[in-house]
Amino acid sequence: MSKVMLITGASRGIGAATARLAAAQGYALCLNYQRQAAAAQALATEIIQAGGQAIAVQADVGDERQVMQLFARLDQQFGRLDVLVNNAGMLEPQMRLEQMDLARWQRVFTTNVFGSFLCCREAIKRMSTRQGGSGGAIVNLSSMAARLGAPEEYIDYAAAKGAIDSLTLGLAKEVAADGIRVNAVRPGVIATEIHASGGEPERVARVSRSVPMGRGGQASEVAEAILWLASEQASYTSGALLDISGGR
Ligand code: NDP
Repeated sequence: MSKVMLITGASRGIGAATARLAAAQGYALCLNYQRQAAAAQALATEIIQAGGQAIAVQADVGDERQVMQLFARLDQQFGRLDVLVNNAGMLEPQMRLEQMDLARWQRVFTTNVFGSFLCCREAIKRMSTRQGGSGGAIVNLSSMAARLGAPEEYIDYAAAKGAIDSLTLGLAKEVAADGIRVNAVRPGVIATEIHASGGEPERVARVSRSVPMGRGGQASEVAEAILWLASEQASYTSGALLDISGGR
């Protein structure tokens, strides 16, 4: 039987690259998206036409009711969960902290932090050997912003990713004896559409100058690390925060 992977925010970017690599490695996939139904469905169709298994399921990960519906759909389709990739994430336009309002911070933390918390909770209920599951792996998407702080850009997003680091460290210890490994990747500057939503589509080119390797990364380079952390090859790795940042 194929292992089942749930990837949140799989309609584009790092989530979509992870889905393609996972499908090639034989995972059955639940592809979550928020708004881009056509892109997520096209990706599921591409995977199925290549001989794989995939469904696309809409849900806002920051909405508890929608997360419950997402996992109910997963249960109905596959009846198991082996890997959760908490990839869904967003940022808001670049500005200094003194210009930000509470509503923005609530949006940033709701998607980036509480979305990951909700999906972790539901995944653990299904994976935990303590609760009759077969174990599993969780890979969270943090960011180098957690360490660098993102001054003049989005300190709120950086702080939310800092919370993901703490979630990863704590949860890895909490569920280690229940057969679940929890790790995070911390990408640096990766060429995806997220930078346009921060108001600077060319951010990768600008920031590349401060990357020791002299370039931004590709979504597929992050996907490779996610798939390794999810795999049996990483069987003794838990609580790791793996920087994928060209040495930055
Ligand atoms: P993109 O903006 O390209 O894609 C984001 C994905 O997340 C989309 O599929 C989007 O779905 C989905 N999404 C956003 N909000 C929600 C939500 N509330 N519920 C469900 N899905 C949601 O981002 P990237 O691929 O660049 O980023 C992926 C992850 O990697 C994020 O967590 C990001 O913070 C992190 N990261 C990215 C870096 C980079 O340089 N690109 C660097 C460090 C970390 P839809 O389009 O359907 O609305």
